[in-house]
Amino acid sequence: LGGSIARALQQMSNATIIDEKVLSECLNEISRALLQSDVQFKLVRDMQANIKRIVNLDELAAGHNKRRIIQQAVFNELCKMLDPGKPSFTPKKGKTSVVMFVGLQGSGKTTTCTKYAYYHQKKGWKPALVCADTFRAGAFDQLKQNATKTKIPYYGSYMESDPVKIAVEGVETFKKENRDLIIVDTSGRHKQEAALFEEMRQVSEATKPDLIIFVMDSSIGQAAFDQAQAFKQSVAVGAVIITKMDGHAKGGGALSAVAATKSPVIFIGTGEHMEEFEVFDVKPFVSRLLGMGDWSGFMDKIHEVVPTDQQPELLQKLSEGSFTLRLMYEQFQNILKMGPIGQVFSMLPGSSSELMPKGHEKESQAKIKRYMTMMDSMTNAELDSTNPKLFNDSRIMRIARGSGRSVRDVMEMMEEYKRLAKIWSLAAANAQADRRHGRSS
Ligand code: GDP
Ligand code: MG
Repeated sequence: LGGSIARALQQMSNATIIDEKVLSECLNEISRALLQSDVQFKLVRDMQANIKRIVNLDELAAGHNKRRIIQQAVFNELCKMLDPGKPSFTPKKGKTSVVMFVGLQGSGKTTTCTKYAYYHQKKGWKPALVCADTFRAGAFDQLKQNATKTKIPYYGSYMESDPVKIAVEGVETFKKENRDLIIVDTSGRHKQEAALFEEMRQVSEATKPDLIIFVMDSSIGQAAFDQAQAFKQSVAVGAVIITKMDGHAKGGGALSAVAATKSPVIFIGTGEHMEEFEVFDVKPFVSRLLGMGDWSGFMDKIHEVVPTDQQPELLQKLSEGSFTLRLMYEQFQNILKMGPIGQVFSMLPGSSSELMPKGHEKESQAKIKRYMTMMDSMTNAELDSTNPKLFNDSRIMRIARGSGRSVRDVMEMMEEYKRLAKIWSLAAANAQADRRHGRSS
């Protein structure tokens, strides 16, 4: 996605005359990319129309950075689309709130209920889980297992088949125990069918939740809008959680869910484990959707990972835009020191997934160490060069021999270097553009 948007913007900035036609072509290209990213057709069309209204062609023709202007306009529009204008109900610690989860079977409700409870528990809340899914065999066992693992009190039954009755009993029990976050997990069906919606309505009427959270699987593609709308029409959905953002999902469904429910996305699920749960943040999300890289996240990471005394130097290097092998070496040292989570590059598109795929941290560390051994066999001139062409066959062979690795290993490392250098120059360009626009981060 990022690639085709970048391409469209590149073509646009190469054009000498920016007229209606050039802008339209550029927006068409961006729209195609957004559609591929599962943003709903109607939303894309609206965005396109809005941008045509906002962008001033004269200013664009005169401006130095046409790309930046269009990119910023698309960015702002998408951010606006993710903001329904009012925040969702937010439970307060120490006060009893009932939160009901709804969504299709398999969307990740039960997992997300526990993640949500666990997230709050870590912040000192006293959450509790109620299993009102009597439809699926094994539903109570699953919730019980999750709850036991995270030491969260739970309520449910193997015998009772009436979800409304269990929901009410569970909520009453935990209210008496002064639990401040009572979470009701409901059943789902494979389809959006009448029986499911009727059951949801009854549970909602009986437990009077303060907040109803709609859980949606991010991989459902263009179906997102209709599904979200169907739930909103049956119960008073007040917030959305998007799950499975770790897979191949492209995330465009989030825009549909917000548009259909007029409710904000509050969290995203990024894996099966309890910790793989993040507060939803509009700007980084849109940056990633547009393939711009999470710029502010990148700066935060630098501050978090890089030792304080090295930060000014690193930022200076970023502003110069040159990414040398020596710089890569130093960053690898930081990464190894901080462990797999302390990764400067993890927020940037296309980096962490390849250099450090989740669950393969050990292999990644070994790979980084291997790269560093090869770099140890480089000359100072090589380490300080920004020109990959310097590395001709004889240099590559010398480095391989010197480090006891194969020529292929050295070439692989050089590919990795080129990839990171590209990301680095993208980040540098963003930093420069931000400075021109007087922004600080
Ligand atoms: P429910 O039927 O809506 O209650 O869905 P479950 O909570 O049982 O989840 C269905 C499947 O999706 C399970 O295998 C979960 O482990 C998995 N799952 C839930 N959330 C996520 C997520 O954020 N990422 C990934 N990769 N898997 C998830
Ligand atoms: Mg479930």
